[in-house]
Amino acid sequence: MEKTLILLKPCTVQRRLIGEVINRIERKGLRIVGLKMMQLDDAILNEHYAHLTERPFFPWLVSSMKSAPVVAMCVEGNSAVTVVRNIVGATNGRKAAPGTIRGDYSMSGQENIIHASDSIESAEIEMKRFFREGEIFEYPDPLHDFMYAPD
Ligand code: UDP
Repeated sequence: MEKTLILLKPCTVQRRLIGEVINRIERKGLRIVGLKMMQLDDAILNEHYAHLTERPFFPWLVSSMKSAPVVAMCVEGNSAVTVVRNIVGATNGRKAAPGTIRGDYSMSGQENIIHASDSIESAEIEMKRFFREGEIFEYPDPLHDFMYAPD
């Protein structure tokens, strides 16, 4: 089982799409093992988006991510990192394929609804960045065999 980190961005909170996006993630079969609302600040955003600090849109990205709370989630499933990135779609909502979350709910390269870790390594780092010990849960999954027959 793999875990990955998801942020529902302030635009998603403002547009009252939290439930709709969570519904898609759960419907796919991923399990929520951590969930909370957070107000992000410069410190955590400078760390989270360190790979983008030199890009011209960086100040706007930070201010957008601070404009309202986000919903942070940790979800679990087989190949969760790849499965979630596939459901999320390409970065720019106008280019993301229909059927993906960004493709269905976003018209923007910036206000693109959701962040999802892009590798197992970044998922590990990002889960620690947004969740403290005790905020990620382990609990039995009685539906496991219905979700995952051997491939
Ligand atoms: N972003 C932007 N313009 C760009 C590229 C990225 O506004 O040309 C924003 C967008 O909100 C994106 C975030 O910066 O989700 C992080 O960019 P990254 O390249 O990590 O893309 P992601 O992994 O979110 O698809």
